[in-house]
Amino acid sequence: MSDTKSLAYLPEAAEPAWLGVMGGGQLGRMFAHAAQAMGYRVAVLEPSDDCPAGQVAERLVEAGYEDAAGLDALAAQCVAVTTEFENVPAASLSRLAQQVFVAPNAHGVSVAQDRIAEKSFFVACASKSGVMPAPHKVIASDADIDAIADDLLPGILKTVRMGYDGKGQVRVRTREDVRAAFESMDRVTCLLEKMLPLAYEVSVLTARGADGQSVVYPIAENVHRDGILFTTTVPGPNVSAECARKAQDAARAIVAELGYVGVLCIEFFVLADGSLVVNEMAPRPHNSGHYTIDACITSQFAQQVRAMAKLPLGDVRQHSPSVMLNILGDVWFEGETVREPAWDQVLALPGANLHLYGKTDPRRGRKMGHVTFVAPTLQEAQANFAQACTILGIAL
Ligand code: ATP
Ligand code: MG
Repeated sequence: MSDTKSLAYLPEAAEPAWLGVMGGGQLGRMFAHAAQAMGYRVAVLEPSDDCPAGQVAERLVEAGYEDAAGLDALAAQCVAVTTEFENVPAASLSRLAQQVFVAPNAHGVSVAQDRIAEKSFFVACASKSGVMPAPHKVIASDADIDAIADDLLPGILKTVRMGYDGKGQVRVRTREDVRAAFESMDRVTCLLEKMLPLAYEVSVLTARGADGQSVVYPIAENVHRDGILFTTTVPGPNVSAECARKAQDAARAIVAELGYVGVLCIEFFVLADGSLVVNEMAPRPHNSGHYTIDACITSQFAQQVRAMAKLPLGDVRQHSPSVMLNILGDVWFEGETVREPAWDQVLALPGANLHLYGKTDPRRGRKMGHVTFVAPTLQEAQANFAQACTILGIAL
């Protein structure tokens, strides 16, 4: 591999190049769409046979994420491999990297998948990024709970690993709450974070190429409901030019400090006084970056293809204001009756783009798809989004 290090993996016509992805969820599916649009073939490694990415990939390697034979089959097929979920075992990425180019690499993913490593990394690069994480403390024993400083409460107890969409998190007011929550999580190692008074939340999508060049997308303003992303609005109605500049500078510093290759999304809190706090990062395309498919010149998925194939990174400019609405399984329910949402009415709204992930089993709280509203002005996009919520029975 060494003499081809700087060469791009082109989507050759005679013998199409294959790109691999660890994980079969919706992010892998949208990655596959982007890769295929550029002439690549896609292989997905995923243990379940009917998955959103497996439905569209040319090849599904049906294997566990740590299955050596499956990993070797993926590596043998592909010129480069990426991941679509952050809990991919770092050891699996290292095994793949012995045979094929892997982006992001095991280091970046292992920092992002462990809240302790992630927080320490943010603290260590604060002098360069200009942002700190929320005050926090590792909780691994009863003694740790006894030693909690009063000003860390009220807070949120979060499992160190495997948290997503607000899962593995409990809000706590007192030391006794922490004790009960720690027990309820089977005493796995947790991080207690001080509950901060958030004015709003933003995320910064960034990508860095193998040559060290990086790009930063416009700042996205995110609203969560029940710990799950509800909407992403870009440009963010609350985001000041000063906040955008600080978040973008921080993102550039963080991605460079990690020596990262690929798409990385960094979430920030903005406090009432305008100060910025870094929350967490996802080593992959991100739900808050879905708007880029319909509103930017290069989508986050096309960007991931470019980064992993060592191609020049694409233009991140946004051509239309946008509101992205996550579609959860809840909108299939009318009381206890399950029926299809009125997609025809939603699609009659100007600038509405529907993305469904091929999941056949709608459940409450499950991400089934998203709709992005693009329009010449943000006000029009917001008005169409509001109408869609009425059609779908989503309270505003
Ligand atoms: P994701 O779906 O982004 O992976 P997650 O489960 O990893 O989510 P976080 O991003 O840590 O969890 O938290 C989910 C949401 O909970 C945040 O977007 C924010 O709204 C709220 N939250 C988390 N930590 C704090 C905090 N320290 N103070 C106030 N609110 C917080
Ligand atoms: Mg988050």
